[in-house]
Amino acid sequence: MIRRMSIAFPITGITVLLILSITFLFYYIQGKTLQDIFWGKEITKAEDIYYVVESLIKRDSSNLTALSKALIEHNGLNEGLIYYSSSGGSKGPLKETMDTLFPKLDVDICQVFDQDYKIIYSVTKAGNVKIDFSVSDLNKALDKNHNLIAAKSGNKWALLALVPIMNQDIQTGKLAIGKWIDDDYANKIAYETEVHVSFGSKDGVIASSLPVGNRGNISRKALQESINDIRSIRIEDVDSFKVNHYSPMELADKIFSVIVEINTKPTYELLQKNKNHILKISFFILLIAISLWVGIALYTLKPLKNLKEKAKQTVLDISGEDVKEGKGNEILSLIHCFDKMVETVTNHISERRDAEEALKKHKAELETQVEQRTAELKTSNLKLICTIDELEERTKQTQIFNQFGDLIQACDSEIETYTLVIKFCKKLFPNDSGYLSIFEKTRKAMKVVASWGSLRIIGEDFKPNSCWAIRRGHLHFVQNPEIDPICPHVKGASKSLYICAPMTAQGEVLGMLHLQIHPENEGVGAEEIKKIYFSKQIMVTSLLEHYAPPLTNLRLRETLKMQSIHDHLTGLYNRRYMIDTLEFEARRASRHNTTLGIIMVDVDHFKTFNDTFGHEVGDIVLRELGSFLRNNIRQEDIACRYGGEEFILILPSTSLENSRLRAESLREKIEKKLTINHLKKIHTITVSLGVALFPLHGSTIEETLNVADSALYLAKTNGRNRVEVGNGHIQKVKITTA
Ligand code: GH3
Ligand code: MG
Ligand code: MG
Repeated sequence: MIRRMSIAFPITGITVLLILSITFLFYYIQGKTLQDIFWGKEITKAEDIYYVVESLIKRDSSNLTALSKALIEHNGLNEGLIYYSSSGGSKGPLKETMDTLFPKLDVDICQVFDQDYKIIYSVTKAGNVKIDFSVSDLNKALDKNHNLIAAKSGNKWALLALVPIMNQDIQTGKLAIGKWIDDDYANKIAYETEVHVSFGSKDGVIASSLPVGNRGNISRKALQESINDIRSIRIEDVDSFKVNHYSPMELADKIFSVIVEINTKPTYELLQKNKNHILKISFFILLIAISLWVGIALYTLKPLKNLKEKAKQTVLDISGEDVKEGKGNEILSLIHCFDKMVETVTNHISERRDAEEALKKHKAELETQVEQRTAELKTSNLKLICTIDELEERTKQTQIFNQFGDLIQACDSEIETYTLVIKFCKKLFPNDSGYLSIFEKTRKAMKVVASWGSLRIIGEDFKPNSCWAIRRGHLHFVQNPEIDPICPHVKGASKSLYICAPMTAQGEVLGMLHLQIHPENEGVGAEEIKKIYFSKQIMVTSLLEHYAPPLTNLRLRETLKMQSIHDHLTGLYNRRYMIDTLEFEARRASRHNTTLGIIMVDVDHFKTFNDTFGHEVGDIVLRELGSFLRNNIRQEDIACRYGGEEFILILPSTSLENSRLRAESLREKIEKKLTINHLKKIHTITVSLGVALFPLHGSTIEETLNVADSALYLAKTNGRNRVEVGNGHIQKVKITTA
């Protein structure tokens, strides 16, 4: 509604405001005056006026009490009353009394009533005026015991106060004294109260202190209200700019009122004075407002129409609905169309907003899905990259391990493998350190054979059970030294992070690879570190898996080789190896122009020994003798079992004499020092030795051996336990060595 007003009736609004302003102005002035009236005067209530009026009358008849008293004292009135009663209406004595006293009173009317409220005597100052108040009304007032009444006689009004006539506390009658209600009396009261006083009845104003032209008409309704609602203050007529106070009068049926007009002189006069101007100005303003309204209405009619058409068009565009303009003027039609447009646009916006919201929601959902998919793709991609990386790494590792396998199988000796293992460890664990330890069966100890990185402990050994990995037979990984058990063989700084991986074959421990892991960089995540450590464990295990079989093979090969060239009983080289070695050494001696000493050793009476102590003891003797010979020759000398209880000692680059001396020394040591303990029995043996020198005693090994054999035979025949030097065919060779 407000929107419509603002759109359709702007000028009307202005006009209404103007009218309201003017009305307010009037009320404001009036209100101001009322305030002045009520707060500025002592008399604030109608009842005040009432009492003022009553007291004035009584003051005027101040001698009333004296009159009453005098009447009683004089017995005149009393007597008069008595006389009047007894004489059947004669007023003689009463008249006399009244004629005497009345002039002394400052009242206009004086009337005497008997105890039945019948008038006995009446006298007025204007003697020619006939007193003819409505007796029944007076009686009614007397019955009601009113003190102040108004009464009409002809066209004359009087205001009467009633005073009881008392005789020895018995009311014998009532005295009514009063004043004529005229302008003089009104002026007198106005003078006393400082307010304008008007007396009025339903017929109009009776008397007033105001000039005749300024007296307002008193409406019957106003009088009625003032009487019904006694002791109230009423504004009789707003338009007259007068404020009238009605006092309560008790002649209700007569509708008589004392109207007290309070003087509102300044405002009243001002307004009275400018009344016509104000009316003219108001009218003029109204005229301008109307003109403006009409002008603006005419001026805005076309734009309003356009606006209406646009509104209609908008509705048509948006909803496809053709708006019916409906009945009424252009503005109402516009309002209707505009309302329709606003409604349509609002709905449209609302629909659009809903659609946008739905779109937004859908978009957000799509974005979330895309994000999720992207995240999944990223994860998959990462996984793929990881997998590819892992595959590449695995391929690389496989290549390394294959290469390692190839190389390790090509190794001729175990020692050679150690170096190779360490080289590959450096390749696989470039930032880490470690070592390879090999189990030595004979010593039952783990010996560190090779190392890399910061760990340089080659040659050190430890007990196999000081390693958790060897003890348990599988890899031992210490990731947290405070929680995981530390192997006793790991010392000092290496107690940090390490792997011990056992190397076994067919249930036997071959060795152990110790890998001290360099801690990963801080930037690497826990999961990544876990992976790295796991990968290292796999690599160590793989390396050892690639290493153990070739190592076993190598050892087997060596054993076989050893067995093929060694005599199983004595541990010395066998005859075949001896022949090969003799041939090799002979060639070398020839090449270097040196000599080669050959000592042939044979146990004396071994057959008898065998026969005496048994073949088993014989074997022990042969094993002990073999061991003795091996331990009592130079490192470059070679001891071989020639067959049975016969041995050959090959002494490269040795002269005949030195060979003989060596043979002699051996013979002596065997005789004196070689003792065989068996079953708490000590056995001793002696040996006979034949010495020959290549190429001195033969151009071939065979010839030389024959010479040695001949020398041995000689030693046997010469009594055994002795040394004989060959004396066969002596080659003419230049001997350069001693
Ligand atoms: P001589 O002092 O003349 O050398 O007397 P001999 O008894 O040692 O010589 P002979 O050639 O008669 O005997 C060699 C004996 O050595 C014969 C054989 O029973 C014994 N013999 C050969 N090989 C072994 C072996 O491997 N173990 C044992 N216990 N005895 C062997
Ligand atoms: Mg023999
Ligand atoms: Mg013998």
